[in-house]
Amino acid sequence: MFHIIVNLALILTFIIPMSAKAEWFFFSDTAMTTAIELEMWSDDAAVAKLISTKVFAEFKRIDQSMSRYQSTSELSKVNRMAALEPVRVSGELLRLIQRSTELSTLSSGAFDITFASLGYLYDFRAAKQPSQKWIRKQLPSVNYQNIIVDEKAKTIAFKQEGTLLDLGGIAKGYTVDLGVAILKDYGISHARLSAGGDMRMLGDKKGKPWMIGIKDPRKEAQHAVVLPLSSVAISTSGDYERFFIDEVGERVHHIISPKTGRPAKGIQSVSVIGPNAITTDGLSTAIFVLGVEQGLSLIESLPDVDVIIIDAERQMHFSKGLMMPVN
Ligand code: AMP
Ligand code: MG
Repeated sequence: MFHIIVNLALILTFIIPMSAKAEWFFFSDTAMTTAIELEMWSDDAAVAKLISTKVFAEFKRIDQSMSRYQSTSELSKVNRMAALEPVRVSGELLRLIQRSTELSTLSSGAFDITFASLGYLYDFRAAKQPSQKWIRKQLPSVNYQNIIVDEKAKTIAFKQEGTLLDLGGIAKGYTVDLGVAILKDYGISHARLSAGGDMRMLGDKKGKPWMIGIKDPRKEAQHAVVLPLSSVAISTSGDYERFFIDEVGERVHHIISPKTGRPAKGIQSVSVIGPNAITTDGLSTAIFVLGVEQGLSLIESLPDVDVIIIDAERQMHFSKGLMMPVN
């Protein structure tokens, strides 16, 4: 009997690894010209490091294939060739373009990746914007219906010359979701992954919610509101991210109305909360363009999403799901 107990103890020490003390690990990197942050709860420092390497590699991979600023990217090839002939693309790029056009339909054209047909004329670092004449010339190319997606042949073609695509309004959220899938594959259940304004949380912060601050659009390093969140994604689109003030004192920022070809007016920031980051990223950009009223009604028509809008007068608007129940 004594021997059996001793042997059992021996076996157990072999099959049950000495459980190392779990702790929080934090990693950061830069990709897609944004800060990437990854926080996770793990009991293995080497595995945590390996996961972070894989997650950051995903951001670099997507940037290399889907950036319009990299001439060798798949997207740049589409932009160069798709008006001449259908361009064969990866299933991944095809699906993301398809997803983008679905969001265009849903948002009555407010979200439109062909905004780039004139969006390329803006240079926020150099404080350059197109003249009204150039906008008029390029505006007919801004129309998601100019994109022909052939699912079977896996090709993208443009109906109109001068069409250009830019996935900057959705690619970060998409990649955050890919990163979260890697975390899940490794059995991580408490983590937070963010890429600039797009963030997704896996579980809570070990018994407590994550406290997520929404930036005050006009006061650097101050929060307009702090939200307790778990197991959701949140994306913020703001007119303070990439902008310059022009000679007549107008804020020229990076979210472009496909109707006017000019920066969308009426809102300073939009934060969308939802089940995954591709949804929240796309919707936050779309709602920024739609404006307060139409934006709120779009959110109320969709399941599992909420929004906080800070308008141009700095008034805050909340969707119904975030309001306190009134007794
Ligand atoms: P976000 O911070 O997610 O709102 O993304 C802003 C980025 O979306 C911009 O820098 C552009 O690359 C892209 N973008 C701007 N206007 C639009 C639009 N109307 N539809 C889709 N993408 C847009
Ligand atoms: Mg977005």
